[in-house]
Amino acid sequence: MRCPFCHAPDTKVIDSRLVDEDNQVRRRRECVICNERYTTYESPELVLPQIIKRDERRSVFDEKKLRSGMMRALEKRPVSAGKIEIAIKRIIQELRATGEREVSSAFLGEIVMKELRMLDQVAYVRFASVYHSFQSVGEFQDEIKRLEQDKSEV
Ligand SMILES: [Zn+2]
Repeated sequence: MRCPFCHAPDTKVIDSRLVDEDNQVRRRRECVICNERYTTYESPELVLPQIIKRDERRSVFDEKKLRSGMMRALEKRPVSAGKIEIAIKRIIQELRATGEREVSSAFLGEIVMKELRMLDQVAYVRFASVYHSFQSVGEFQDEIKRLEQDKSEV
């Protein structure tokens, strides 16, 4: 790793420890040229499955896209940013836990909907209506009815 101060190509690690959350490793490094010390946080690069789109094209999982899709559904809803981040983390964990090299976008959509449903029912319906591209008001109403039935069962 290059020294951020003098850009020397060589630094030595003087301390290394595991940070609890996120399995990150915190390293204290010292430049062998200018002796400046700095800290790096490193996390293992875990492979996420590729997403197979409806037209069979593959694409890499895009966390930014996921977040913006969820934010759109959650617009003006009383859900904290912290809760959204936790949901996103869970979605990514679930993707990783499949151990698959590729999963369908439909599978991803189901996971996202499951999380949104726990976060906020309005957001869930918004997302589902876009996702399933409900063809009619009737379909939309069916989904709302289903949600209401679920609620009364709890
Ligand atoms: Zn240096």
